[in-house]
Order: sequence, then structure tokens, then C-alpha cells
Amino acid sequence: MTRVALVTGGTRGIGEAICIKLFEKGYKVIANYGGNDVKAAEFSERTGIPTAKFDVSDFDETAAGIAKIESEYGPIDILVNNAGITRDGTMHRMTFEQWNAVIQTNLSSCFNTCRAVIDGMRAREFGRIINVGSVNGQAGQYGQVNYAAAKSGIHGFTKALALEGAGKGITVNAIAPGYVDTDMVRAVPEEVLVKIIKTIPVGRLGKPEDIANSVAFLVDDESGFITGSTLSINGGQHMY
Ligand code: NDP
Repeated sequence: MTRVALVTGGTRGIGEAICIKLFEKGYKVIANYGGNDVKAAEFSERTGIPTAKFDVSDFDETAAGIAKIESEYGPIDILVNNAGITRDGTMHRMTFEQWNAVIQTNLSSCFNTCRAVIDGMRAREFGRIINVGSVNGQAGQYGQVNYAAAKSGIHGFTKALALEGAGKGITVNAIAPGYVDTDMVRAVPEEVLVKIIKTIPVGRLGKPEDIANSVAFLVDDESGFITGSTLSINGGQHMY
């Protein structure tokens, strides 16, 4: 049986690497994205992986997007909640819009997607859910009250849902990447990045593939005894 995997924010960065890794492992993979049609088309043409455009911060749009995927490709067995954004600013400058966009996109999205797949996973008694947190949700980060709150919320969300899914064959785990070389991190000013790299014992930024390998391990059928855990993948930067 070929398992169906949905990766949100799967057309760029870490999500792209996760899609490619799972595709190579033989899963039927669908890459969701939010708005960048050009990048999504280029990704799909290059990899052969189909894409599905919907805004994961929108409950109804997500429900409709997932229903469409399931009607085309079959029930979703594996869900990787990877889509995320940053809207940085210190508290005294942060607007409500910055706060809300990050909470909705990075945290409420997990509710929106999980709500859409959970009934099916419970009925079929199998599911693998991976939520992408962050070292900055574990340790906090200057200028990221919104992002740290959302990512920290993901870790609590993961444990609670893991308890609910445990008797139904559904595992729910989080990963907490450190700094990974993607568009998101390329937006960090060079001088800040240099300082950050000095705090990483391994001495480099992570590669998207470093993260993808861990996801492939956690979603494997044979990883059914791992649930409610958070796997830190950060080059030793923060030992939580
Ligand atoms: P990128 O900015 O490179 O890619 C983000 C992806 O998310 C894109 O595919 C984007 O789609 C999609 N996306 C954004 N908003 C939405 C939305 N509302 N609905 C659907 N899709 C959306 O991010 P990264 O690869 O760097 O990060 C991936 C995840 O890893 C995020 O959750 C991030 O917080 C987390 N993370 C990243 C770290 C890093 O150092 N890079 C460190 C720790 C965690 P589109 O192309 O259409 O905009």
C-alpha cells in the first residue's frame, strides 16, 4: 500500500526537501503552498510532485483543499505541518497584524489541517503527524514574540494530540530545527547570521536535507512507538 503524504509549505526550503525525501522513499506526496505560483510550478515540473494551493491559516480553505486532495489521491496517512512565516519585530513595535499573521499561519494552521484529517486517521487507525516547531520556540528569540509563541504552542499541541491519537495508531511528533539555510534565514541580516553561526557547535547552518531525513524517520510505519516527542535538529545550538 502506498501511503499518501501531505506536506504544507512543501514547494520551498525545508518543505521542498521533505517532499523530495518522502517521494524518493516511495510515498505519494502532495506539496501544499500558499501563494507563490511560479515557484510551485517550477518545483512540480522539476520533481514530478503535484502541488495544492490553499492558505493553511484559513480553516474553510484548508478543509476544502484537503477534501480535494483526498478525493484525487486517497486518504492522507501522513501530514507534515511545515508551512510557516516570520513577521519579526520587538514587542514595542510589533503590530497586531504581525502578531496575528504568525499565530494564524504557524499555529492555527496545525488545528486547521489536523481537524481535516483526524477523523479519517482515527477511522483507519493509522496516522503520522509531524509539526515543525523551532529552536526559537524552545529558547525564545529577540524580536520574535509572535514566532516563539506560535512555535512553543506547537510543542504543547503535539503532546496533547499525541495522547488523543495513541490508542488509534496515530503518532504525533514535533521537530525543532535550528537555523537552516532557506529563504527564511536568508532574510536575516548578514551580521546577525554570522553571530548566530558562532553559537552553533557544529559550525554551520543546517541544510533542508538534515531536517527531511528526520521527518522520513518519524513518519515510517516502523516508528509507531515514538509519539509526543520533540526532536531537536540544531547542530547542538540548544540542548533542550
Ligand atoms: P520558507 O520561507 O523557505 O518556505 C515557506 C513555505 O511555507 C513556502 O512553501 C510557502 O508557500 C509556505 N507558506 C507560507 N505561508 C503559507 C500559508 N498561509 N499557506 C500555505 N503555505 C504557506 O520557509 P522554511 O523552509 O525556512 O521553513 C519551513 C518551516 O520550518 C517553517 O514552519 C519555519 O518556521 C520552520 N523553521 C525554519 C527554520 C529555518 O532556519 N529556516 C528554523 C526553524 C524552523 P509560498 O511559496 O506559496 O509562499
